[in-house]
Amino acid sequence: VLGCFLQTVQGARADADALAWTPASPFRDELRDLGVAALIRDDAEATALASTDFGNVTVAPAAAVLYPSCPADIAALLRASCARSSPFPVSARGRGHSVRGQAAATDGVVVDMPSLGRLGGGSTASRLSVSVEGQYIDAGGEQLWVDVLHAALAHGLTPRSWTDYLHLTVGGTLSNAGISGQAFRYGPQISNVQELDVITGLGEMVTCSKGRNSDLFDAVLGGLGQFGVITRARIPLVPAPTRARWVRLLYTGAASLTGDQEQLIDVERANALSGLMDYVEGTVLADKGLIGSWRSPSPSSSSFCSEPDAAARVAKLAEEAGGVLYCLEGALYYGGTAGGEPDVEKRLETLLRELRYERGFASVHDVSYVEFLDRVRDGELKLRAAGQWDVPHPWLILFLPRSRVLDFAAGVFHGILRRGVTGAKGPILVYPMNRNRWDSDLSAVFPEEEEMFYTVGILRPAVSDGDLGRLEEQNDEILRFCEEARIRCVEYLSYYPDQAGWEKKHFGPAKWARFVERKRKYDPKAILSRGQRIFASSL
Ligand code: FAD
Repeated sequence: VLGCFLQTVQGARADADALAWTPASPFRDELRDLGVAALIRDDAEATALASTDFGNVTVAPAAAVLYPSCPADIAALLRASCARSSPFPVSARGRGHSVRGQAAATDGVVVDMPSLGRLGGGSTASRLSVSVEGQYIDAGGEQLWVDVLHAALAHGLTPRSWTDYLHLTVGGTLSNAGISGQAFRYGPQISNVQELDVITGLGEMVTCSKGRNSDLFDAVLGGLGQFGVITRARIPLVPAPTRARWVRLLYTGAASLTGDQEQLIDVERANALSGLMDYVEGTVLADKGLIGSWRSPSPSSSSFCSEPDAAARVAKLAEEAGGVLYCLEGALYYGGTAGGEPDVEKRLETLLRELRYERGFASVHDVSYVEFLDRVRDGELKLRAAGQWDVPHPWLILFLPRSRVLDFAAGVFHGILRRGVTGAKGPILVYPMNRNRWDSDLSAVFPEEEEMFYTVGILRPAVSDGDLGRLEEQNDEILRFCEEARIRCVEYLSYYPDQAGWEKKHFGPAKWARFVERKRKYDPKAILSRGQRIFASSL
């Protein structure tokens, strides 16, 4: 499907070098005349880095990189592009954790957002400001969520909604949605923003919120970088817990897992389980290697996982279950100003009694709140050490209506993924969210027809030769399966090769019309985030 667009990273780096900016470019001369010229690099090292991303699947050679010292530098660049008869593309790049070149700007200028924290004449911390009285934090768009967490915790406070991995930028996740196991209660990160500073595609600096320039505010949140560059976000804070009970329970079927997850997240209708967990996710273990390695994350665990025969017992359970196991992953927060200490034992007791997991396959351990939230970092460091972080990541993430999750499980978890790609082991996430915690006025697209919808993240790396192609084929097969089974899914961190895909498969007529109208208002020359491949020319 991706055809000529896809190249291997090695090829990508070589192409980026070859396509590095030519000195004769008149475009370069124009930038030289701008006040920001000193902050621009067009050497092969800078442009090659800005031309690839975490996905390591695509390449989009940038002509130059802007290292802004303040938001006004970005505004100057955008105004310069706007003033041209053929504007050059400009893309904000957080940390380039995109998977398909979404933060790239082919033949244009990539804005290295972290420079705002480094070059602004202060430290990173100076772009993180907590108001204890107002219970919010003002965070630069380039700030990492892990730094937001630590700045808030210094005052005993915390944001409510997270991503699983915290080394992503505020502007990057707010351009998508920002989801994790807390979203069922508080909504995605885009539902947890009070105010933004944005530089539109016209180079105008605008402050917006639900009460002020609300159309721009709604457009930018989940807006895939299409309407403006977020330079500041005001995030509400609440009293922070200090600890978490981290629970993992094994299930032999999708029906019992999803049934329990749905009860846990159903915070509107009281049932025996609703609201007992503060974080609810789940994983699918459809691959022999992953099943064998299923274990607790720390050796201090008091669960069955620390027993010497744990892996063999899990493998036997998997065999009896037909080769696929499920794991409910949850957390109960307590301690600190959030309180809840005496309550946590009681909540845990009820959960372990009422949930329908396989008895004898429970793992519970006690970790700090920070250790829990930053849990993926540990995995990153291990993968980096093993040389398996900078490999291609052809991820597929889907939102599915609740009513079809079991059909999806039967066809995909027990069908397509059982014919796995050897060596390509990565987490497969499955967890539900409440639709009413999402705001349909924002740009993000999600299934709206039912009260709950699921996210399924098939997050596999391509480690061996040929894996990338095989994984891409399997992703296509999954999408075809959904189409044939009429499972109306929406892709998250989506990729479509052209505008028609976005219009027809992603947005649908009403949301597309609104998206185009907003684009016409805030970035009519289609300068911003062209790497998303939504708009290729002026409107
Ligand atoms: P980039 O990849 O640099 O940019 C993403 C898009 O936003 C681009 O279009 C870019 O142009 C635009 N953009 C960047 N900064 C700004 C800005 N300041 N203003 C306007 N537009 C901007 N996502 C989740 O929701 N939940 C998860 O649990 C989760 N886990 C992840 C784990 C890993 C290991 C990785 C690699 C990604 C994960 N993601 C998750 C995906 C993540 O949300 C996206 O990768 C997102 O793009 C953030 O990455 P980034 O900050 O590096 O942004």
